[in-house]
Amino acid sequence: MCTIIQPTTADEIVELLRSAQSNKTKVAVRGGMTAGQLLQNEEAAPDILLDLSRMNRIRSIEKGNLLARVEAGVITAAVETAAAKERLFYPPDPTSLHTSTIGGNVACAAAGLRQLKYGGTRDFVMGLEVVLPGGERIRTGANMQKSVAGYDMTRFLIGSGARLGVVTSAILRLLPKPQYREIILCAFPGASAGASTALAVIKSGMTPAAMELLDSRCLEIDHDAWASLSMMQQPADVAESLLLFELDGVEVSVVGQRAKIERLCAQQGGAVVEILSDSHMGTQALELRQRLLPRLMAAYPIWAMAKVAVAPGQLRAVWAPDTPLTKSSGQGSGYLCCFAHAGIGVLHLFMGIDPMQEPGGGGAPAQARAVLRCLREVGGALLGIYGPARRTLGEGEAIPSRFTEAMTTIERSFDPKGVMLP
Ligand SMILES: Cc1cc2nc3c(=O)[nH]c(=O)nc-3n(C[C@H](O)[C@H](O)[C@H](O)COP(=O)(O)OP(=O)(O)OC[C@H]3O[C@@H](n4cnc5c(N)ncnc54)[C@H](O)[C@@H]3O)c2cc1C
Repeated sequence: MCTIIQPTTADEIVELLRSAQSNKTKVAVRGGMTAGQLLQNEEAAPDILLDLSRMNRIRSIEKGNLLARVEAGVITAAVETAAAKERLFYPPDPTSLHTSTIGGNVACAAAGLRQLKYGGTRDFVMGLEVVLPGGERIRTGANMQKSVAGYDMTRFLIGSGARLGVVTSAILRLLPKPQYREIILCAFPGASAGASTALAVIKSGMTPAAMELLDSRCLEIDHDAWASLSMMQQPADVAESLLLFELDGVEVSVVGQRAKIERLCAQQGGAVVEILSDSHMGTQALELRQRLLPRLMAAYPIWAMAKVAVAPGQLRAVWAPDTPLTKSSGQGSGYLCCFAHAGIGVLHLFMGIDPMQEPGGGGAPAQARAVLRCLREVGGALLGIYGPARRTLGEGEAIPSRFTEAMTTIERSFDPKGVMLP
């Protein structure tokens, strides 16, 4: 039976991990549990579930040092809000930001829509406090931009998914808040025009904060909400693909970038269907994109989700008419759709189970494999496959055994009794 423990201090975690090591009890850590559905059924059941949600204090926002000190269980959006009150800005915006925690973002090295311009969690964590398996408490990094010249333990721990310890608090880097922001929606009648426009935007020298590409099936799932955002046209009705931009900076620069984007869209047969300044509607549009994965998972039980990175210039090659990616979308075997951080070439391929069909039936594995093969052919790197079909589709790239041995050795040296579960 699993015991849920909700510590309020790091000392409690020290005690707990000490006794877990002596008693060889399996410990899993949870923050906002947003990754739960992706990670499910992958590991043995824990004896103890350490829920960090009560360690949710923002200890300080230090305007002079451009940093925040927070406990690991604080919700990511709360950091953004607290920083904004001081005219500061915490850019990492994993799509789960309203429910995920800083500790979970650190463990998953979560990035988000704004990684194009700003980077992800990895780029905004200056220091960590971690309780190692066995109960030793360590601090990494410091309240300054550069605090190490050799191995960087902070970055090393980011992305380790609780295997190496429990993050209890973090020092986060903040930036001055951009003065002005606009959200722009551009709809395209063809599958490839959105990808071509994204490339043209990058080539033009602009760096939007975010540039997200959605296929028509992603729009379909929230059709009415997308439609209600657009006064001029209903993007969900006309679009084969949609680009969502977030532009930020000084107003005159944002307005200039918007004009350029309008021209580039028109050249690809698309149209800017809505310009939403930093308003309720702009926030709503961003939230629609942020909610996409939970919405998909609620409507269609996840069969598999693959996260693949391609060079941004290759996005057009895979997101073109008649590629396995665009041919599969909308076919009868489950719910297959694709959305991408277009500026950095990271694609999310969602495959949901259609309740009317056999799980993974109707050719879904073949379709999914064809899409993944196509992505590999252009040099894509598989960043992860989640969901029950993970094993059906294969783990992806073969990792050289030297690396897996090295990783196992590292995990063993941190956690010799193997108590930590991801
Ligand atoms: C591998 C992976 C990569 C992801 N990458 C992205 C991304 O790039 N962009 C994006 O928008 N979304 C990403 N997500 C989805 C989502 O952003 C993450 O689910 C979110 O960051 C997790 O935060 P959470 O608080 O909900 O953690 P949970 O879902 O509760 O836990 C997620 C993982 O983090 C560990 N964990 C949680 N808190 C701590 C802690 N305090 N100390 C140590 N370990 C802890 C858990 O053990 C578990 O392994 C990713 C999900 C996964 C599984």
